[in-house]
Amino acid sequence: MSKSNALLTQHSALRTTVVGSLPKPPWLATPEQIRPTWLLEGPLLREGQDDAVLLVLQLQEELDLDVVTDGEQRRDHYIEGFCRQLSAFDYARRVDKRTRGDRYSAPVPTVAAPVERTRPILLDGLRFLKAHTARPVKVTIPGPMTIADTAHDAYYGDERAFATALAAAINAEARELAAAGAEVVQIDEPCFNIYLDKVEAWGVEVLDRCLEGVAARTAVHVCYGYGTPAVLQWKQQNTDWDQYRRLLPLLRDSRVQQVSLEFAASGVDPAVLAEVGDKDVLYGAVDVSPAPADPPTVIADRLRAALRHVPPERLYATTDCGMAPLPRALARAKLEALTAAAQQVRAELGTR
Ligand code: ZN
Repeated sequence: MSKSNALLTQHSALRTTVVGSLPKPPWLATPEQIRPTWLLEGPLLREGQDDAVLLVLQLQEELDLDVVTDGEQRRDHYIEGFCRQLSAFDYARRVDKRTRGDRYSAPVPTVAAPVERTRPILLDGLRFLKAHTARPVKVTIPGPMTIADTAHDAYYGDERAFATALAAAINAEARELAAAGAEVVQIDEPCFNIYLDKVEAWGVEVLDRCLEGVAARTAVHVCYGYGTPAVLQWKQQNTDWDQYRRLLPLLRDSRVQQVSLEFAASGVDPAVLAEVGDKDVLYGAVDVSPAPADPPTVIADRLRAALRHVPPERLYATTDCGMAPLPRALARAKLEALTAAAQQVRAELGTR
């Protein structure tokens, strides 16, 4: 069912891409927030989102990225922007919940009825994107385990059952996106780095359910979180970076074809990539903190370290996570440094 593995990209080795989100223009939404407020409404909001997509597309093409996204310009939050379109998610009934393995507290929606996808959610956005670029495009969808962790389940009473219902909805969406020409469909599952026992018990099975029959290249993004103060604080005091060592052998048996991982800001040794089998690796070589961009020489060193474990045809250079909460100029600088580094290393490899 899957399309040819080869994407028609600008480069044949050490390709570049974004994880998903990019900052929104400050006239569209309140800047530098993971839950921003739209500054336009009604038809103007839709028009503003279209314009914002064209701007992030222009940036990605200017930097010659191989696989582009809409920068999630139509989503105020990567989970809520999707789940609000599903039945059953009641954002008027929020409950404070300890999330992400008790790291954070968040006001999450209540789910008190069966989850159903009653209409396409990301399809119009994909069509707009495809109409304005010839490059392969990626669409990102939050994953079932991460959604379940970010909701108060008052219906299923069992997390696996809740996640399985979510997977059916995500699968319906992913199939339609692939049929409409999305070259890559990515599931965002940061919780795979937290609940390793659950990943083993049912997480991979539920991820595979999301991707069943999806005629596109499929990806899963598993990071340590955005470059926001709460996450940075957690990273600073964290000493256990062994999650990928346990996760990657589990993902190796999954049907997913690409894994998007964080290496720049985490303390993970890229040697763990030996565990990933023959999947593509989207290698986070640029941190997404508010710190200035690392120079391309530093990023190039990270890419060379990754190339010791993954061949250049399967290695994509990317950022650790989405860049939605960053200032626009900084996100641009980080992508410029990334592409300069990739160019440098490609030249050393003698590939284009
Ligand atoms: Zn991430």
